Amino acid sequence: MEINSAKFICSNTDWKKCPDIHQPEYAFIGRSNVGKSSLINCLTNSKKLAKTSGKPGKTQLINHFHINNAFLFADLPGYGYAKVSKKDRANFQDFTLKYLQNRKNLICLFLLIDIRLSPQKIDLEFMEYCAIKKIPFMLCFTKADKLKKREISQMVEAYENKLFESWEILPEYFITSSINNIGQEEMLSFIAHHNQSFS
Ligand code: GDP
Repeated sequence: MEINSAKFICSNTDWKKCPDIHQPEYAFIGRSNVGKSSLINCLTNSKKLAKTSGKPGKTQLINHFHINNAFLFADLPGYGYAKVSKKDRANFQDFTLKYLQNRKNLICLFLLIDIRLSPQKIDLEFMEYCAIKKIPFMLCFTKADKLKKREISQMVEAYENKLFESWEILPEYFITSSINNIGQEEMLSFIAHHNQSFS
């Protein structure tokens, strides 16, 4: 699928104020600094649609983008940033979770995981939450350019082993890098495929 246009629509903290557009939506979430903005920019071939910065914890809003006038991306607040106050963290988690539970046109949540890290409690807990609430999600391992092929396989296998401790069926995953576009085609094909069956 070619990306011909990608436009910012709006930011907010209330799922009820999210764009009233009956088109398929894909959301992105992950720990701060996981590479979420970079991946959105990579998928949409834009340099700064989503703000990329070295500073963690900046995106504390639900940001919506209209892609090809045909589907939506929702950039959700990063989680697990220590410097955000407990109150702020609880607040944005609350509105993010409300969004995830109520957004009718949400096709898939891409849950981003830094491929270099061993399974993190916060990510595992969040996956558990998605499973319980029946929120469809896929894992996106990010920054694959930082590892060799063999190391990538080892990290994914370690992750799968950890998940197998409590999961019977493993979530599907993409391996991505925004530096050299690994996984971009696969993710866009996945999106194109789901767009076709949206009604
Ligand atoms: P966000 O906080 O999750 O939105 O993360 P950003 O997209 O702002 O990226 C955080 C940092 O990781 C930045 O310094 C990026 O340049 C870097 N980064 C993001 N994606 C990649 C990637 O695929 N490969 C590498 N090597 N660095 C990345």
